Amino acid sequence: MNLTKKIVTQLAKKTGFDLVGFTDAEELAEETDRLKDWLGKGFQAGMAYMEKNIEKRKDVNEILPDSKSVISLGLNYYTDDEYENISDRGKVSRYAWGKDYHLIIWEKLDEMIAALKEIDPGLEAKSYVDTGPVMDKAWAVRAGLGWMGKHTNVINKQMGSWFFIANIITNIKFEPDKPIEDFCGSCTACIDACPTNAIVDEYVVDANRCISYLTIENKKDIHEEFGNQFDNWLFGCDVCQDVCPWNIKFAEETSLKEFEPVNKEIPLNEFEGLTNSTFKKKYGTTPISRARLKGMKRNAAFLKSASK
Ligand code: SF4
Ligand code: SF4
Repeated sequence: MNLTKKIVTQLAKKTGFDLVGFTDAEELAEETDRLKDWLGKGFQAGMAYMEKNIEKRKDVNEILPDSKSVISLGLNYYTDDEYENISDRGKVSRYAWGKDYHLIIWEKLDEMIAALKEIDPGLEAKSYVDTGPVMDKAWAVRAGLGWMGKHTNVINKQMGSWFFIANIITNIKFEPDKPIEDFCGSCTACIDACPTNAIVDEYVVDANRCISYLTIENKKDIHEEFGNQFDNWLFGCDVCQDVCPWNIKFAEETSLKEFEPVNKEIPLNEFEGLTNSTFKKKYGTTPISRARLKGMKRNAAFLKSASK
């Protein structure tokens, strides 16, 4: 049987994805120019890996020769919960409240691709969840999942921006969906609310100033110029998404138990008594492991010193 958009969409929904879109596996020429411009300004900070594999980022044929389409998928992770007691605790970004999304999405992708191959054994597929040289957000925008907001997260008109993105590059041609227009309009709420002025221009985030980068990917000390601007963010930051009207109006609860809040706020002295092995045991299957024990100790110490 031939795979059709309808079959793929049904399978994606059955596997648990909330959003599905299709686009041609063409070169991401404009997006790559913007990436190069961003890199040229040093806005990647210490994420040197962003400078590598530019050709693969531009052209997925470098990853899967003779690729025809990209299937873009979205998975809602929003749970309707608030921070409670942050006087001696640090806030964790919403995406990291539960289990590591990679583990959840990889399982779903494996299940979906196996089902697709059962229908068409000729299918070749490479899938990515923000870990390879693939411009996830650019593909999601091209496939019509949403538009790139001024805070550089993809916004879906029915769901807001609280969703993860996965992409499957395939050797099968599907009719492409149309990208949707940008509905940010004259709004600048995210730019105005960013505590560290990291959104240096519309659609441009300087990672050197972004709390998400500084508390997760960053391997260095956090500069004292940020003093008390962190508003108790211990791991990541959601301010730009929290203030976005599309999230305020349209965020819907996920049905996935794995995203229920477990590590919503963490005592600032939590990490002092942990070793690398006890840290791994407690946080190894959560996104928090990405910052490593050393990074979490640094973040907690920074928040403590800022509150003095
Ligand atoms: S995540 Fe926080 S620090 Fe980074 S751009 Fe958004 S509001 Fe600014
Ligand atoms: S807060 Fe406003 S400008 Fe920022 S992403 Fe949302 S709609 Fe766009």
